Amino acid sequence: MATLKINEPAREIDVIHQTDVLVVGSGPGGLPAALAAARAGVEVTLVERFGCFGGNLTVVGVEGMHWYRHEDTIESNGIAREFEESAKEMGAAVPESQSLSYEIDSEGFKLVADKMVENEPNIRPMLHRQFVAPIMDGNKITGIITESKAGREAILAKRVIDATGDADVVERAGAPTFMTPKENMMAASVMFHVAGVDKQKFMDGIKSDPQTYKDWGGGGEWNIETSGKEDDMFSPFLKKPFEQAIKDGMIPPHLNTIAGTWGAVHDTGELTYMNLIHMDDCDGTDPDSLTKYEIEGRRQSMLAIEALRHYTPGCEGIRLRNFGMSIGIRDTRKVDTVYNMTSHDVREQARFDDSIGIFPEFIDGYGILILPTTGRYFQIPYRNLLPKGVENLLVSGRATGGDRDSHAATRNMACCAVTGQGAGIAAAISVKTDKPLAEVNPADIQKELERQGGRHH
Ligand SMILES: Cc1cc2nc3c(=O)[nH]c(=O)nc-3n(C[C@H](O)[C@H](O)[C@H](O)COP(=O)(O)OP(=O)(O)OC[C@H]3O[C@@H](n4cnc5c(N)ncnc54)[C@H](O)[C@@H]3O)c2cc1C
Repeated sequence: MATLKINEPAREIDVIHQTDVLVVGSGPGGLPAALAAARAGVEVTLVERFGCFGGNLTVVGVEGMHWYRHEDTIESNGIAREFEESAKEMGAAVPESQSLSYEIDSEGFKLVADKMVENEPNIRPMLHRQFVAPIMDGNKITGIITESKAGREAILAKRVIDATGDADVVERAGAPTFMTPKENMMAASVMFHVAGVDKQKFMDGIKSDPQTYKDWGGGGEWNIETSGKEDDMFSPFLKKPFEQAIKDGMIPPHLNTIAGTWGAVHDTGELTYMNLIHMDDCDGTDPDSLTKYEIEGRRQSMLAIEALRHYTPGCEGIRLRNFGMSIGIRDTRKVDTVYNMTSHDVREQARFDDSIGIFPEFIDGYGILILPTTGRYFQIPYRNLLPKGVENLLVSGRATGGDRDSHAATRNMACCAVTGQGAGIAAAISVKTDKPLAEVNPADIQKELERQGGRHH
């Protein structure tokens, strides 16, 4: 905490826009919220600090949205599925290596998201504006203040959805949030993509020494407890090249955290979604910590690429194609919502009368990997989107309330899309019926969700 302080003078700023539903953040939790609210018939504004929609999917390069899907998996459909289908239609998806799903191309999805937004005349997109403060009237949020190249501006809204991933709006509005202690947080990752792979040779190498989920282990994110049924299934996991690089002195021994999965290998010789760098101790709400680990992550990525060149067949001629636009953060603030999800809920098929969507029994994080190879699934209650103590505000995406194990399920992008779609519909109904968010009838949300093609049971 700095001891030297100054007073920031109060100032008058322009109200540049007024809207029914304002969504802050356009990731898997935010974009579906905006689409769902618009489709439910209200005016929507979508504010995003970067120059593209998609959040981690586009900004970080997290391309595996549905890699959990197997033959018997039961899932939400709705906008989560629409992301994949629209990406397929626009040539921005390729078959994913370990599941019955498509890997979404992180660059191509920028165009897919543009089109989804442009197809909804009720959505006013506002890129390049960062939320910095809520506008409050007592315990009600009535809008937000943004910072951009245009300076500070105000946007007024009847309802606000916090889809920043970090609960920025909720926290600054004064509602309770909590964070996993830093030493137990999920690691942060700098993601990258490479070019110049000999696809045939690479795939021959993978087939001659196939890795399974049982092979996960040995540091970073990759020490896991499974339910047993996952152990012998194929996983696009890479660890051996980095073990060899450590033995040969190319990578220092303390970086035994370098290991992980690749996403897709393209005919054009690109290997994408290289989820190999895992750094503990990064606090995604602290810009100094982010600065340190962005730089460290890039350094480690280049070591990983060097090791792949030496020890992975087909990668001899690879070069860095690009890093994600930002370090990938898995774990920051979570909102203490009216109902916080529990480990029991996600492991034991929780059922709720106020369900706003379902998600398969897919738990991935904090050292657990359970794949939804059966038809088991859980429901998410509307109360899980309601922060305590502030009116007109909902949360969607990875900051929804819950304990560690439940977060390992709900943080997944397709689940973020479920809470996003539910939040968008609820906010729209709240505006249209002129009822406080807490009094929206869950049956009305369920009816609209069904109309929009989503499942709540
Ligand atoms: C390296 C890595 C690998 C992962 N792998 C997978 C995987 O394989 N499959 C999977 O399903 N999930 C995976 N995840 C998890 C998943 O990506 C996230 O949990 C998910 O994207 C969260 O969605 P969200 O919309 O809540 O947040 P985000 O995706 O972070 O989106 C938040 C959006 O809000 C914007 N924003 C933030 N603050 C502000 C502000 N103050 N003002 C304006 N805009 C703001 C951001 O720019 C961003 O666009 C991974 C995560 C990481 C980091």
